[in-house]
Amino acid sequence: MNKKNILIVGAGLSGVVIARKLAEKGHKIRIIDRRSHIAGNCYDARDEQSQVMVHTYGPHIFHTDNELVWDFINKFSTMMPYTNRVKATYGGRVFSLPINLHTINQFFNKTCSPSEAKELIEQKGDASIEDPQTFEEQALRFVGRELYEAFFKGYTIKQWGMSPSELPASILKRLPVRFNYDDNYFNHKFQGMPKDGYTSMIEKMADHPNIIIELNVEYSHAERDRFDHVFYSGPLDLFYDYQFGRLGYRTLDFEKFTTEGDFQGCAVMNYCEQNVPYTRITEHKYFSPWENHDQSVCYREFSRSCTENDIPYYPIRQVGEMALLDKYLDLANKEQGMTFIGRLGTYRYLDMDVTIAEAFATADKYLETIDEQKMMPVFTVKVR
Ligand code: FAD
Ligand code: UDP
Repeated sequence: MNKKNILIVGAGLSGVVIARKLAEKGHKIRIIDRRSHIAGNCYDARDEQSQVMVHTYGPHIFHTDNELVWDFINKFSTMMPYTNRVKATYGGRVFSLPINLHTINQFFNKTCSPSEAKELIEQKGDASIEDPQTFEEQALRFVGRELYEAFFKGYTIKQWGMSPSELPASILKRLPVRFNYDDNYFNHKFQGMPKDGYTSMIEKMADHPNIIIELNVEYSHAERDRFDHVFYSGPLDLFYDYQFGRLGYRTLDFEKFTTEGDFQGCAVMNYCEQNVPYTRITEHKYFSPWENHDQSVCYREFSRSCTENDIPYYPIRQVGEMALLDKYLDLANKEQGMTFIGRLGTYRYLDMDVTIAEAFATADKYLETIDEQKMMPVFTVKVR
């Protein structure tokens, strides 16, 4: 087979998974990353003093229904059992999330059975909203005003910097409402945490004789001609020098603090009231329940609008941003020998399992097309 020289921009999960798949087929891969470390936003590292594994760019829990993805990551890490159970503080009380029978009974001070709780919530829901379009309508329709105002309204205003009436219903649809005591934050079949962390897992994926990685290297267009193909996981708008303006993102600030012993007794505590400035506190040692640490490392998490010098985290994807995205996509779709990948290259929020599944699909598509000498499409997956 025709061996190719490939440049991958970004040593995050998207870039490294594609690199691995293509390296295994004999292609030569150079990965560059502007950061001083690999693993992108999945990067984690042990806190020097306490040795607690800290998720540097925010809490990451692996969950998926995709067996191929699960099998793949298990080749590069021992996945330890971990179930994400989130708590929420509101009105001076602590509640169970996502909304489940415990939350409903706590909140309404009742002892409902599953069917009674279902009936109660149906009564609370606003049945006049037939086809909820916004986050707020979705919440009012399915959980009613009291639970909406307690758990979703303030948190969402802090997280997104706008009213839930301006956000799509799809954001809330990510969270289940359950009429039993199941407080698992996710519905997926597989869930776990890599024993030695995500950085180690991604390092192992990249450990292949056909892959070289160079850190602290910024992508430049001058590089392009030296390679048969480029996979680019940097920001799409940066690639085009922001010529139409910047795609809007939310960024996060993490305020780190350490304590002796335990701070909150769980990995994630959400703060749903609008007048508490942070959205949640993460106590990192609870992501590794199989380890013992005397000290604790915590992050208070604050969300705000992303400016030029910040790390883009959550794409906003409102009408204005989508119009801008279309302009960049028009340019991107005309490129040859170039594939835009990952959360920044395609301007979407992607969970890790989706990122990996898309990386598989992209690598497969590339392998199919090079042999047929076809032009590589820019996106191998539907972007909107
Ligand atoms: P990234 O990880 O962003 O990697 C892109 C890389 O490209 C970066 O290393 C960057 O430095 C590099 N780069 C960018 N531009 C350039 C350039 N011009 N030149 C050189 N290098 C460049 N997913 C889950 O499944 N579970 C979770 O619990 C979860 N929690 C999350 C929490 C937060 C706060 C966030 C923001 C995301 C979370 N995710 C979670 C999603 C997860 O982070 C992504 O799926 C994953 O990081 C996507 O990988 P990527 O390679 O596409 O992007
Ligand atoms: N959300 C909320 N209250 C909570 C948790 C989540 O209002 O206690 C909203 C918030 O708008 C968030 C969305 O539900 O963006 C989806 O929640 P998820 O936990 O999936 O958020 P993410 O992982 O994106 O931070």
